[in-house]
Amino acid sequence: MMAQYLALKAEAGECLLFYRMGDFFELFFDDAKVAAQVLDIALTARGEHAGEKIPMCGVPVHSATAYLQRLIKAGHRVAIAEQTESPEAARKARGSKALVNRAIVRFVTAGTLTEEALLDARAANWCVAIGEAGGSVAVAAADVSTGRFELIDTGPGELAGELARLAAAEVIAPEGGAGAEQATTVRPRADFNSDAGEERLRRLFGVATLDGFGQFTRAGLAAAGGLVAYLEHTAKGALPFLRPPRLTRASAAMAIDAATRDSLELTCTTAGQRRGSLVDAIDRTVTGGGARTLAADIGAPLMDRAAIEARLDLVQLFHDDAPIRELVRGTLRGLPDIGRALGRIAAGRGSPRDLGQLRDGLDGAWRLAERLGKVEPAPSLLDEVLPALRGHGSLIDLFTRALVPSPPIDASDGGYIAEGYDAALDDLRDAGAGGRRAIAALEAKYRADTGIAALKIRHNNVLGYHVEVPARAADALMKPDSGFTHRQTMAGAVRFNAPDLHDVAAKVSQAGAHALAAEAAHLEDLTQAALDRREAVAASADALARLDVAAALAARAVEGGWTRPALVDHGCFEVEGGRHPVVEDALAKSGQRFVANDCVLTEGSRLWLVTGPNMGGKSTFLRQNALIAVLAQAGSFVPASRARIGLVDRLFSRVGASDNLARGRSTFMVEMVETAAILAQATARSFVILDEVGRGTSTYDGLAIAWAVVEAIHEDNRCRCLFATHYHELTRLAERCDALTLHHVRAREWKGDLVLLHEVAAGPADRSYGLAVARLAGMPPATVSRAKAVLAKLEAGRAQTGGLAAGLDDLPLFAAAAQAEEEQCDAIRAEVEALDVDALTPREALDTLYRLKALT
Ligand code: ADP
Repeated sequence: MMAQYLALKAEAGECLLFYRMGDFFELFFDDAKVAAQVLDIALTARGEHAGEKIPMCGVPVHSATAYLQRLIKAGHRVAIAEQTESPEAARKARGSKALVNRAIVRFVTAGTLTEEALLDARAANWCVAIGEAGGSVAVAAADVSTGRFELIDTGPGELAGELARLAAAEVIAPEGGAGAEQATTVRPRADFNSDAGEERLRRLFGVATLDGFGQFTRAGLAAAGGLVAYLEHTAKGALPFLRPPRLTRASAAMAIDAATRDSLELTCTTAGQRRGSLVDAIDRTVTGGGARTLAADIGAPLMDRAAIEARLDLVQLFHDDAPIRELVRGTLRGLPDIGRALGRIAAGRGSPRDLGQLRDGLDGAWRLAERLGKVEPAPSLLDEVLPALRGHGSLIDLFTRALVPSPPIDASDGGYIAEGYDAALDDLRDAGAGGRRAIAALEAKYRADTGIAALKIRHNNVLGYHVEVPARAADALMKPDSGFTHRQTMAGAVRFNAPDLHDVAAKVSQAGAHALAAEAAHLEDLTQAALDRREAVAASADALARLDVAAALAARAVEGGWTRPALVDHGCFEVEGGRHPVVEDALAKSGQRFVANDCVLTEGSRLWLVTGPNMGGKSTFLRQNALIAVLAQAGSFVPASRARIGLVDRLFSRVGASDNLARGRSTFMVEMVETAAILAQATARSFVILDEVGRGTSTYDGLAIAWAVVEAIHEDNRCRCLFATHYHELTRLAERCDALTLHHVRAREWKGDLVLLHEVAAGPADRSYGLAVARLAGMPPATVSRAKAVLAKLEAGRAQTGGLAAGLDDLPLFAAAAQAEEEQCDAIRAEVEALDVDALTPREALDTLYRLKALT
């Protein structure tokens, strides 16, 4: 056994090996130590290996799922080794001491789950592979729980953003190749060969050419190939359930890099939780599929205006028509998750209940289509989804006739095929029922014959049907002429065989076995019938999810008094009465009111510099506007009284270093790297929010950096930008940057107390209120008055020297500075180009170097 175990363990590699022994999965050696600790179960020992006791622990097969869940959550992968023959078969084939054959039947990994219990119903479960060919990079993403399959060509700078968007459960990359640092699982390079990938896809979809799916890039084929190879590996060669891939370019969606996602807390908070995120605050979906689609939509706001308007039209329909909205939501609320049910069926782990779910879900889809078909005029997206809801009539009919109303999860006891579906099955069941009646009659007869009222006919797996009487009454049956034969004596009871019982019992169990077999055959046929239509069923699941999202966004808009954004192509951003949905919710819980604010960015005023006291609401204001852009382009109404938004191609959000301290990175460095990325990537169509950039270093450095960043954004990137800062000196930039305007969050000191109004108003803040905030925060009065004294000294010093920003006014303009630098470069270039290096003596070479140096 040890040899067999070690061979399987070698195959399992890094995975923990679940080794099936009867009713348990056992783990040995280090696997046992790890599992015992994670699962908090007893670590025991068994036998010896190489002179040492073998650590061991085990989990019962019937509750293995719960243990698997905890191991996967803790970041482990598990290989399941099953017995591939029965002990009887092993004995028959290889003698009485034969070892049962075992084989790994599946690798359970975070990215390849289909079990309901192991998945979050409201989140997609992406397994992602990174492929590379000819210098470009692509990401292939599969959610095998629903068969979704996406292939995204990303630019080199966009990989991290895509990975952040997908928040993959598992990331696969080729050994030593692109993305290996981000990978949770490294696979052989050969799996990521683009030719082999193409072949794999053709085989998976049973097509001679992939042309019908769209234009694949080499990198895309490499990524898809690596992904499919991995999924086949984890399923031990079985083909995974994947729908035809959706090919996209990262540029089809608003580009949002990883740092921005993190800082805006779109789908999860910086602490990694869904609670408190934007999605959490707006999610009113009533189905798992709807919740997954909403999260995907928010994660990838669209760039195509027509597509956004189509989504908005559908939301508008449900927004304006309350009865139809409630009808849709009411119907959807009762429907099972057919996307995931189909995923389980396709993975070969479907149950009768999953088929029942398809029946109920598809029936609900059909009913919805009937009702929504009457809507006039129908928005285009409705016309698009309705056909996908229909067309399952024969499948629904088949399942309605074939299945009982609520089929069980476990098929092994039968009882899921409805009466009247199969006459032969009904007969077998009748025979079984007749037999059971006959047994009940026999029991009554034996009681009457023997006069033992406590006599019972029982059944177990060892004896089959038998008679049981209390020990004190057994003597009568022990007599040879009683007709009963003794089988077993227990503590309080004695068991017997009885005349006639054997024949009747044989009939009952035979009928039962035949009935079970007949049901199993039907289950197989029904499963096949579902699989034959899997693409159409998956399309229905998508359509239901789309309806759910639109109706949910409408419900959210009604609840919060949101408005439909107008989308335009030029670079404006006009929001009146804008609010932050998450902060507003949080304030509402403590009975506080959120102060709505306007934000109007135009050609002539595209960069807002926002100053004002800490806690005044600067961050909130910046973020709410970024979130409004995301919501609008995801196809949602927005928390504002009016919004007109020029499409945003890239969204950036950066928060000054000290706000991020909790994450324990070299924060100033991170801040600078991230800010550099913005300056390199933001276009005139981008939207940037910068919150206290530069504050992670000394005052002079920080001010200088903030100054230069604002100038660069204003002159070079020319994007829409909100820049919050406590460097009051920056307000001088308004004089030199014509598209920059000054704004502040209002505060007032009243009877010595600071009142934060959270109102954004025009002009710079009059002062910083730092000491007032300190007092508000409960700093001891003695410390505050000491700080006041220090401040007075500092300010006096500043007045004498002309202040922190003294001299800034003499600084040449950004454009002039850039011009000067360019001229300098040109001079050096001209000098170098004129050199004839071969003709130089060492002495001349040295002189030339001195001259060049002097030019810098
Ligand atoms: P700052 O960035 O200026 O330090 P924040 O944006 O972090 O300030 O806001 C601080 C707190 O003020 C928030 O947590 C919130 O409770 C409150 N706040 C911010 N904006 C508003 C608003 N518009 N209406 C009401 N309260 C607000």
